[in-house]
Amino acid sequence: ASTWANVPQGPPDAILGITEAFKKDSHPKKINLGVGAYRDDAGKPYVLPSVRTAEQKVVDARLDKEYAGITGVPSFVSSAIKLAYADSLDPSRVSATQSISGTGALRIGGAFLQRFYPGVKTVYIPNPSWANHTAVFSDSGLKVEKYRYYNKETIGLDFEGMVEDIKNMPKGSIVLLHACAHNPTGVDPTQEQWRAISDAVKEGGHFPFFDMAYQGFASGDTDRDAFALRHFIKEGHNPCLAQSFAKNMGLYGERVGAFSIVTASPEEAARVASQVKILVRPLYSNPPVHGARVASAILGDAQLNAQWLAEVKAMADRIIDMRKLLKLNLERLGSRRDWSHITSQIGMFAYTGLGPEQMELLAKEHSVYATKDGRISVAGITTGNVQRLAEAIHAVTG
Ligand code: PMP
Repeated sequence: ASTWANVPQGPPDAILGITEAFKKDSHPKKINLGVGAYRDDAGKPYVLPSVRTAEQKVVDARLDKEYAGITGVPSFVSSAIKLAYADSLDPSRVSATQSISGTGALRIGGAFLQRFYPGVKTVYIPNPSWANHTAVFSDSGLKVEKYRYYNKETIGLDFEGMVEDIKNMPKGSIVLLHACAHNPTGVDPTQEQWRAISDAVKEGGHFPFFDMAYQGFASGDTDRDAFALRHFIKEGHNPCLAQSFAKNMGLYGERVGAFSIVTASPEEAARVASQVKILVRPLYSNPPVHGARVASAILGDAQLNAQWLAEVKAMADRIIDMRKLLKLNLERLGSRRDWSHITSQIGMFAYTGLGPEQMELLAKEHSVYATKDGRISVAGITTGNVQRLAEAIHAVTG
């Protein structure tokens, strides 16, 4: 028999399956709301003009292609840290490394915690969470459990359930928090609620792990979107953080990210950094340089940085506008449902509250494709397709 005769067929990736079905559909006005990538109002992928300019600068500099160090492009890493933490702490107590986008940052974090975390090696993720969290952390050797997050009845945050679950975790557990623009629900705690969450994490002696994949992309303001992280630091937590520049710089395929751990002192940061290097070296030796150079050129130049911030805000604003327009169209069609969650949610995704059968109908009868959990990518909505989308949603919910 062949060496691999006993390898079982694995299930297809849920999102890829949607893309396949979408491609096969011949409807001229089919809509794909499955993918988690920004689209402009013409439904096209968008390269930020600030990224184009920065990329040209990088090319013009005719840099060599030597390896970066294990922790990547130093100017990128320090700029990324500044963007996330601003002046909430002294950066000398942050141990940081470039990573293969947000996923790689989470994976380095998982590996570090698995090896060195002295508390309970169980990471609690929200229910629901980004589908890859479970796989990343369990492949890192951590146990994965869930805390209550989403309330089906209100299509909003189950705040009481969340705080109660955090308080009831074994003392010293790891708590994964979406810093902003929770994926898949688009439901974020308010600042007041974040304060209570910080208290609960502190009360439990837990370790906060922030996943910040959408800084700036949620509200359009990179400082506002970093509120939770910075508040936790102000409150004395020493969290770790996974950052991604996939969404806020549109650098998806360039795989630009950073992983950082806030420590108690520069001396501790150095020890932690030495171990992060030992972890990264056998994984991929050192990260790719091009995307990090581009991000660094933006973050390190006042004018380009200002331009980038305006472009991030424009992306966030378009998404916010599409939420309003979708809700308005549903109301105009006479939908008796309350659609206020569409505009109260934030970020790339809206959790519509539609069930799997309704999502199936959307695809089969209206050529509107999205995941079965009722999540739609608002980035895929345009002024040109929003009315048809509203009609389709109204037809399956009416
Ligand atoms: N965390 C969350 C919550 C995400 O939504 C994503 C992107 N879908 C990521 C992490 C990581 O994405 P990437 O590896 O492309 O940066």
